Amino acid sequence: MKILVSSCLLGENVKYSGGNNLNKSLIDLLEKYNFEIIKVCPEVLGGLSTPRTPAEIIKNNIITKNGKDVSKEFELGANKTVEIARNNNVKIAILKENSPSCGVNNVYNGTFSNTIIAGRGVTAKKLFLENIKIFSEKDLKKIEKFFKEKENEHSFTKSGDSI
Ligand code: SF4
Repeated sequence: MKILVSSCLLGENVKYSGGNNLNKSLIDLLEKYNFEIIKVCPEVLGGLSTPRTPAEIIKNNIITKNGKDVSKEFELGANKTVEIARNNNVKIAILKENSPSCGVNNVYNGTFSNTIIAGRGVTAKKLFLENIKIFSEKDLKKIEKFFKEKENEHSFTKSGDSI
C-alpha cells in the first residue's frame, strides 16, 4: 500500500516560513508499518517558493497576507497531487491539519489571526473526491486502525492465494 503524506510532517523544509512540521509520533507509526511513503507538498508543486507569504482561504479564493490571489497556484498543486495519487494507486493520505492546502477537518479562518474553523484545504478536498481516505496528523489512532485493517486484508489475501 502506498501512502501520500504532507512532506512538512516528515521534516522537509517546505512550510511557508521555510521550516517544517516534523511529527515524530507520525514518523514512528509509519516506520512501524513500513508501507511505501510518497511525500508531497502541494504548494511547492503549484510553483510557490519557500519561504513564501502565508495564505488563507477567503471565501472561495486563496489570498496571501499581503493580498495576492494565489488560488491558481493552489489549484495547480492540488491537481498535481491528485495526479501523483492516481498514478500510484494511493488509497490513503495523511495531511497537515489547518493548512489551506492540506487541512482535513480545519483551516485558518482567513483573518490571519491564528483562528481555526471547520473546513478543508484545496488539496484535501480533491483527494477526498477521488475516494482517497484522508487523515490529519492528529488522527494517529484512526490511522493505526486503518493500517491494521489493511495488514489483515493483505494477510487474508495471501492465505487465500495459497489455498
Ligand atoms: Fe505542508 Fe501541505 Fe503546507 Fe506543503 S502545503 S507546507 S505539505 S501543509
